[in-house]
Amino acid sequence: MNGAASTGSPGVPGMSAPQDATRFRRGLAALRIDGLGPVGLTVARLLLGLGPGTVVLCDDAPVGTGDLDWGYLRTQRGRERSAAAVALLSAPERQRDRPGRGRGLPGRQAAEPVLIEAPEGARTPGVDVRLVTPDAPWPESHELDDAGALLPLALHGPGLPEVLVIGPLLTRHPGPCADCLDLHGVPRPVLRSTLEMPPHLVHLVAAVTVHQVQVLLDGRYAAACEQFQVIVDLGTGAASTMPISSHPECACLTHLPAA
Ligand SMILES: [Zn+2]
Repeated sequence: MNGAASTGSPGVPGMSAPQDATRFRRGLAALRIDGLGPVGLTVARLLLGLGPGTVVLCDDAPVGTGDLDWGYLRTQRGRERSAAAVALLSAPERQRDRPGRGRGLPGRQAAEPVLIEAPEGARTPGVDVRLVTPDAPWPESHELDDAGALLPLALHGPGLPEVLVIGPLLTRHPGPCADCLDLHGVPRPVLRSTLEMPPHLVHLVAAVTVHQVQVLLDGRYAAACEQFQVIVDLGTGAASTMPISSHPECACLTHLPAA
């Protein structure tokens, strides 16, 4: 899938397959989250439990009153969400809340991930997977090539979100790219606040999303989002997939895979 997923763990002292190899592989991953509303912040918390090497957080919006219900501190009101989230999720904060290093967050036994804030629109080449949550605008076209793969989250519905759509994972090769979506007539995700979502639905959206990232990073199976849209009806709980492949007329099919 990407550099992190294709890298093994040869010759690393004290590591043996498969559990340690998985942890090592996750530790190589650089992830980015665009949008740090309720969904993005919850995704960030859960992603840290996977033990990634680096997590880049992007959201220039100020922490508002509605954000305080989701863990932002009253003293952070007015501060950029990205800076506030980095402070909130940094290791000392997590360890203060969860005594017993390495036990508080499931799967956390390796080095602490590096948490970085970045302004919206910042280029972050080298990121393996960039998640664009509904609280973030869809990236400009010149930003689309910066990440190894782009995973869009979209919420649809006239009022409260009724349908969650994850993916498809957009890559340069193989698999569909952003231009393929246009050629297929798939609407691009639109900016949408998740502040009014019920907490259990926020956690559902975040958990399904982070599970997809975990499958991508571990590389044991093809993740559903690699060739499909993962669709969850938030009204009924029914889950389904919609295949989306590279469009036969898209120029991405002529791109050679990276050496
Ligand atoms: Zn394409």
